[in-house]
Amino acid sequence: MLKGEKNLQLLTEPRRIVITTHHKPDGDALGSSLGLYHFLKKYNHNVQIVVSSDFPDFLDWLPGRSDVIEYPKQAALSSKLLEEAEIIFCLDYSALSRTNILEPLIAGSSAQKWMIDHHLDPEDFADLIYWDSKAAATAQLIYTFISDVLHAEDQIDADIATSLYTGIMTDTGSFRFRNTNAAVHHIIGQLIEAGARNWEIHEQVYNSSSEKRLKFLGYALLNCLEVIPEYNTAFFAISKEDLAQFELTTGDTEGLVNYALSIKGIRLAALIIDRTELIKLSLRSIGDIPCNEICKRYFNGGGHLNASGGSSNESLTTVVETFKSLLPEYKQILTSI
Ligand code: 5GP
Ligand code: MN
Repeated sequence: MLKGEKNLQLLTEPRRIVITTHHKPDGDALGSSLGLYHFLKKYNHNVQIVVSSDFPDFLDWLPGRSDVIEYPKQAALSSKLLEEAEIIFCLDYSALSRTNILEPLIAGSSAQKWMIDHHLDPEDFADLIYWDSKAAATAQLIYTFISDVLHAEDQIDADIATSLYTGIMTDTGSFRFRNTNAAVHHIIGQLIEAGARNWEIHEQVYNSSSEKRLKFLGYALLNCLEVIPEYNTAFFAISKEDLAQFELTTGDTEGLVNYALSIKGIRLAALIIDRTELIKLSLRSIGDIPCNEICKRYFNGGGHLNASGGSSNESLTTVVETFKSLLPEYKQILTSI
């Protein structure tokens, strides 16, 4: 869906543009932002990426990463850029609250807001919306925005291709999830042709763990994983002491939830982590089990059908109890094949 197409004419001359994405950016958030960043720079726009937090080390190698402005490190500059922007891109989120500390700055800016996203139930705050909940990744939408909307596919160079490849790869679980279809593989083929070095990208993202991270994985599998066969459900509960013991950094728990889902017969998996300031949840499912509905109803969150997140201000123990106590309500869908 493309709405507000007439606003695209703004791009015919150089503009002050800020690209934003959600708090704690993941591979798709950062990949789509950098892909668009490298593209817009070709047209002499004054373009910056402003994010609300740090992000995982395994994304540090991305081309242009050092240009990304992190609000906690450069608050005054971030505020100024958002205030003075003519266009603010909103990538990989469709609820302003997902930008955390940036929310009032984006909402208060007189800039046009251009949303490119694939999450369900988009809020109505944008002047231009390019949205498709069936897209596997926002990076896929940046690709089609460039190729189908702006007709500038020939401008996709190695930096753009590398960034977009990373976004699609991470949001599809390396092209394994249900959102991976022929269109995704076709685009991936185009990105490789444009210079994305696919094997290197996999290596950078997936084979760059610290020793501590791997030892934490072993610890969590042994001590923090609980399986509830009656509901085909498994979850990890990670305390702040666990996190401190292994000196984990942002991104070190990424992917852990998938181990719970990899147990034969498990259809719903959760990762529940005490991040001190709040409890953060990640839910994953297979089939029609609605992670997003569960997160929305119980954990102040949302997301996609099979991958969602949320948070809570309760204690870890209470959140675990809440999670267990909602399972009977979904028993039929959890146990029907
Ligand atoms: P993750 O579990 O990897 O943090 O997030 C998986 C997906 O859930 C994200 O792509 C995003 O769509 C969604 N998500 C994660 N956390 C939140 C949240 O706090 N609120 C909402 N609305 N969605 C979230
Ligand atoms: Mn995404």
